[in-house]
Amino acid sequence: MSTIVALSTPPGRSAIAVIRLSGPESLSVVTNLIQESALGLPTKQPVLRTLHDPRTTEIIDRALVTYMRAPNSFTGEDTIEISCHGSPVVVRRILDLALEGGARIADPGEFSLRALSNGKLDLSQAEAIRDLIDAQTDAAARQAVRQLSGELSFNLQPIKNALIEVIVRLESAVEFVEDDLPTVQSEDLASQLKQIIAQIGALASTYDSGHWLRDGIKVTIAGRPNVGKSSLFNSLLNHDRAIVTEIPGTTRDTLSETISMAGLPVSLTDTAGIRSTADTVETFGIDRAQRAIADADLVLLVIDGTAEFDEEDARLLSDAKDSRYLLVINKCDLPGFKARDDFGARGVKSVSVSALRGDGLNDLSRAIANRFAQSAEVNEGFLITDARHFDLLKKSGTELESSLKLIEKRASEELILVGLHNALALLGSITGETTTEDILSQIFATFCIGK
Ligand code: GDP
Repeated sequence: MSTIVALSTPPGRSAIAVIRLSGPESLSVVTNLIQESALGLPTKQPVLRTLHDPRTTEIIDRALVTYMRAPNSFTGEDTIEISCHGSPVVVRRILDLALEGGARIADPGEFSLRALSNGKLDLSQAEAIRDLIDAQTDAAARQAVRQLSGELSFNLQPIKNALIEVIVRLESAVEFVEDDLPTVQSEDLASQLKQIIAQIGALASTYDSGHWLRDGIKVTIAGRPNVGKSSLFNSLLNHDRAIVTEIPGTTRDTLSETISMAGLPVSLTDTAGIRSTADTVETFGIDRAQRAIADADLVLLVIDGTAEFDEEDARLLSDAKDSRYLLVINKCDLPGFKARDDFGARGVKSVSVSALRGDGLNDLSRAIANRFAQSAEVNEGFLITDARHFDLLKKSGTELESSLKLIEKRASEELILVGLHNALALLGSITGETTTEDILSQIFATFCIGK
């Protein structure tokens, strides 16, 4: 097994940088740098040491060195963390000397991959570390911590046990029974299988809310020029990001920022006002706006509540019947404002706001959050947040459905067992028991270096 090294803190200048080594050569690399025997280095205890260039004995830095002896480390291998000063020059020199000492630069996620190979974590826990690092809101971080503590494996275990029980019953029927299964037994198996399918379905259904937590919600602000889109964008962000003027057509490109709304990460995009124009730059902006609308999970269609309602509004509004749209009637602070309660009757959800003064923005945030998740669910239940896990649950459900049909058709045990074994392997891939090497490397490629 090779020894790997990586900078585990973000690159650039900082007070402290942490360099991590894992593998059999870690100790010799570091003892060479600190110029003392391995015996002098305690385990699991940071000690202050001077780092030297072993060839010239020149001092590189003073650093805290923490040695974790195999198997009592994150990776299960000999691991050393060097907390040096966060100078890119110092970091570079330590990394170079580690490479000369026989280590190689770690691939993305390779420390976690080693932890997985050495049985320190299961795959869903390793993925949870990645999700925790990437989390954009408290609720997303909370879900990642739950998964890291093994909650997904804990939820899956009884389902797998029940499935194994069905498999064992059928396998022994293949061994010992000459004829087909008696009716009573096959009805019993079918009902057991139905329960398992329902449990898998219930877990998979939490992805509806869960994936918003991890992937974020794409919300696009759209509408005609001058209705107050940029003002709304700025108010929701709580700072002036977009330029607000009374000149129509000022926003010519899309602008995006991420904010947290009721615990959900929201990527908010302001777009150019939609209108017919001869201005080339503005036309590009309008094209981009249309793409942002097509791409959005939710479109906030802004109209000016003080302006007369014309054909262009009617056309935009005809799109707004789609549940992806929420109508925002702006400028409710002005005297000529009309709340347009008649929209509700036409099946369009609307909220009245003043982007300028902030009135109604809480109602708007609530309407957005309600659209994507029951907040109770976001804060309390365990959720499937990862598309890979959702896909595997769906596929195992489909395999079980096909086995169930075969049981009902009184097909042979061998045929029924095929789907059951496939389903078990698919469930096993969630936690990594039955995941192939190339899928593992694809998953770990999504990790950051040094993790
Ligand atoms: P956009 O072109 O749709 O992005 O609109 P802007 O945000 O640039 O706003 C156009 C004009 O309307 C500016 O003069 C804003 O100050 C004004 N405006 C925007 N929102 C409100 C509002 O809620 N109330 C009032 N009174 N004026 C607003």
